[in-house]
Amino acid sequence: MKSLLLIALAFHSLFSFEYNLEPKKINSQIYCFFGKPQIMDTHNNGDISNSCFVDLGKSYLVIDSGPSYKYARDTHKAMKKIKNQEVSFVINTHIHDDHWLGNGYYKENGATIIGAKIFANTPNATPIRMQQYISKEAFDKTEEVFPTKHIEGVQTLELEGVKVELTSFDKTIHTDNDMIIYIPSQSVVFAGDLVFNERIMSLRGGNINNWIDVLDEIEAKNSKYIIGGHGNIYTRDSTKITKRYLEALKEFVLESIDEGRDITDTLTNSHMSEFEDLKLYKEMHTINVETAYRTLEWGDE
Ligand SMILES: [Zn+2]
Repeated sequence: MKSLLLIALAFHSLFSFEYNLEPKKINSQIYCFFGKPQIMDTHNNGDISNSCFVDLGKSYLVIDSGPSYKYARDTHKAMKKIKNQEVSFVINTHIHDDHWLGNGYYKENGATIIGAKIFANTPNATPIRMQQYISKEAFDKTEEVFPTKHIEGVQTLELEGVKVELTSFDKTIHTDNDMIIYIPSQSVVFAGDLVFNERIMSLRGGNINNWIDVLDEIEAKNSKYIIGGHGNIYTRDSTKITKRYLEALKEFVLESIDEGRDITDTLTNSHMSEFEDLKLYKEMHTINVETAYRTLEWGDE
């Protein structure tokens, strides 16, 4: 009897888990679920990155499907309260698992999943990192479902008559498969993890020089809204923190190399007080300095 009760309780918690997400209105057609400026754990269950949706008229376009099947299911539930319609298209900005593990939910409901060609060809990572950090209940039903429509270079799609310009970069920036989405009629750029605010970005696996350059490209679109992958600032100024940090980091590391300091010495002296109040400074800054040093010690070759 007792074991039956335990099984019933386990079933209940497995199926009753909810993220309880509230979308923030950007304009009459765009809303975002802004993730928490935290490391993924069993409390936030991967709700640490941004997922946005655009009303195309008859259905929604989703930019990044989030960390799990249930996250995607719960965001769609919240979207339907605003306008009861399906999601026809999902665009994945890059391969980091907090941004696209909700694909399975949307594919099951008939959506086309769009991503960079290089992303779609990336072999499955096992075990999935997210699975190790969030609760079993939150991860339930989550599988790696890769994009089915692939983008190379710059391509403009017409989604229900709305022009959507996708740029898939063929160089390493935050990852080697970053993509930005520009919708001229809405004056919005979805920049994925090329833009962080509220918190320190993760440079690990990225290239500091290319990242600084691409921020100029994003700003040159002159859009009213620039929405990043992390952080809740969505105006055209949202790039400022990322840019200022990367430029200051580059300057610091180049100076250190010039003075002949090795990496250990550089890391010991790497505190940058201007940024210490940003969330995740403790967790990310030293790793960023190390990555920047490894890139910059070879000069511009
Ligand atoms: Zn990322």
